[in-house]
Amino acid sequence: MERETLEYDVVIVGAGPAGLSAACRLKQNALRQGRELSVCVLEKAAEVGAHSLSGALLQPTALNELFPDWRERGAPLRVPVTRDDVHYLLSERRSVRFPGVLASRVIHNDGNYIISLGLLCRWLAEQAQDLGVEIYAGFTASEVLYDADGAVRGVRTGDMGLDRESNPKAGFQPGVDLVASYTLFAEGCRGHLGKQLIQRFDLDRDCGTQHYAIGIKEVWEIDPARHEPGKVLHCFGWPLSRSSTGGGAFLYHGEHNQVSLGLITDLNYRNPWLSPFDELQQWKLHPLIKPMLAGGKRIAYGARAINKGGLQAVPKLSFPGGLLLGCDAGFMNYPKIKGNHTAMKSGMLAADVVADALHSEAARPAIPLPAGPSSQPGSNPARADLTSYQTAVRQSWLYRELYQARNVAPAMHRFGMLLGSLFSFVDYGLLRGRLPLTLRDDQPDHATLLPLDRATPITYPKPDGVITFDKLASVYLANTHHREDQPCHLQLRDPDLPLQYNLPRFQEPAQRYCPAGVYEVVEEGGKTVFRINAQNCVHCKTCDIKDPTQNITWVPPEAGGGPNYSAM
Ligand SMILES: Cc1cc2nc3c(=O)[nH]c(=O)nc-3n(C[C@H](O)[C@H](O)[C@H](O)COP(=O)(O)OP(=O)(O)OC[C@H]3O[C@@H](n4cnc5c(N)ncnc54)[C@H](O)[C@@H]3O)c2cc1C
Ligand code: SF4
Repeated sequence: MERETLEYDVVIVGAGPAGLSAACRLKQNALRQGRELSVCVLEKAAEVGAHSLSGALLQPTALNELFPDWRERGAPLRVPVTRDDVHYLLSERRSVRFPGVLASRVIHNDGNYIISLGLLCRWLAEQAQDLGVEIYAGFTASEVLYDADGAVRGVRTGDMGLDRESNPKAGFQPGVDLVASYTLFAEGCRGHLGKQLIQRFDLDRDCGTQHYAIGIKEVWEIDPARHEPGKVLHCFGWPLSRSSTGGGAFLYHGEHNQVSLGLITDLNYRNPWLSPFDELQQWKLHPLIKPMLAGGKRIAYGARAINKGGLQAVPKLSFPGGLLLGCDAGFMNYPKIKGNHTAMKSGMLAADVVADALHSEAARPAIPLPAGPSSQPGSNPARADLTSYQTAVRQSWLYRELYQARNVAPAMHRFGMLLGSLFSFVDYGLLRGRLPLTLRDDQPDHATLLPLDRATPITYPKPDGVITFDKLASVYLANTHHREDQPCHLQLRDPDLPLQYNLPRFQEPAQRYCPAGVYEVVEEGGKTVFRINAQNCVHCKTCDIKDPTQNITWVPPEAGGGPNYSAM
């Protein structure tokens, strides 16, 4: 079957806040300049927002710049933050509240809103479509296309209708080639194509190691008497402190008597017995939290990885034919636990650079091409260099904000939670990043696990089915779905490593770090088997990050598969 090719000026991979802000800004620029510009956005979820998961507290800085009239346009920012509490949980029963004046030096949410990222993305997609952007949800960019000179010339969408062995079935549809002058990658944290581009163009040659956390979130409908719209609560300490693991928990009172709560667990954790999912279940039992949930009902569940390497782990942002945006590049402010406004800003800056490039390209005569492979559609030797994106980022508030926050995560890694917090309070809270040093941690998260004989086993109580639950009951609420008969999208480089190396050394930690119960070690016909229940995957990317031998690669499943979040 013939493969179709579609041509655009700009193709954007990912309809998250970064990709959609880039798309809107490109069209706004084109309208202002009275020029025609074709922009297409690809989104792997069946609909925009269905794979979006965030806290989320939105700092509206970038939104104010992109759509100053967002209120009149009906943006879903309806719950301003009214109260901001920070607690340190000393044990399973005790806690202390940080004095407001201290807490506000690090976490301050005045002027921010409690939102659902899924709803914000759907609204941004509407604005983009009104501006003339073409959005294709249910289409995964599965491969990067390169021209004969090695520049990115677009992406190929995934084939539809392959069987488990990758053979075409009846109704097979080959993917489409989307070629463009410029391709912007906005896949979010640990983007599958972003990872390949970083490797191919050696974009991380001069930066530090990227670090990650896994964020697991639940949405609850609670007793209206206990609901305080606009109230924000952050917790540190127990239960993660038992295993000296970094991270913290959040609980935000949104609209409709709902609270969003979750636990963020740093993926440089050392104890292979740790289960981030079960740590969240334990946290909900703390006397500070449990009474709020009593009589309530859990209505949604999901998980997603978060970058935390900071500015020093941001790779080079441009390569021939394209740019990295948002969390694909690692623009996350970890101490604030906020990456939506920085993702949006990076998208807007990228759009401005691409608009200028297209403008200068239009003014420049195209170099006549010899016949040959470079003359394929999308090959464009007159393509401008996009390195000015790096400068634009450097001169923006996005850079200044991440610069101030740069030492917080590495300080926790180096000095531990207590001393690291003290250091961060001084450097970030008081001096706003002015200490004349930049800390780094170059040990990747997959290399931190202790072997079983050096780790203290952690056991978790059985879920009560009221406040705490098991993984399967939770995944059910993520509405995740993958067509059964398709190639497994969790690829093992060496299928023997899980049982031969990971099991004896770490009791195969994938069984515990995966928040969806995808990986299991089971007895089948008298044999020990490593089972992959790929249909449960919620696309958090944790296995791609934390597997101790880097043996697991997450590749996109058939488009439209994955969780189906309604408003996470
Ligand atoms: C638990 C948790 C709590 C958080 N809390 C906050 C908070 O309170 N405030 C805040 O500002 N930030 C918060 N963040 C961080 C914030 O959500 C991210 O920084 C932000 O979502 C990054 O935006 P992005 O556009 O770069 O990526 P994403 O939002 O991840 O969007 C990427 C999009 O690309 C799509 N995609 C990926 N690969 C492909 C492909 N190959 N083809 C097609 N589509 C693809 C994905 O499906 C997704 O829709 C939180 C994150 C988590 C996990
Ligand atoms: S299989 Fe990997 S990407 Fe999927 S839910 Fe589990 S850890 Fe996350």
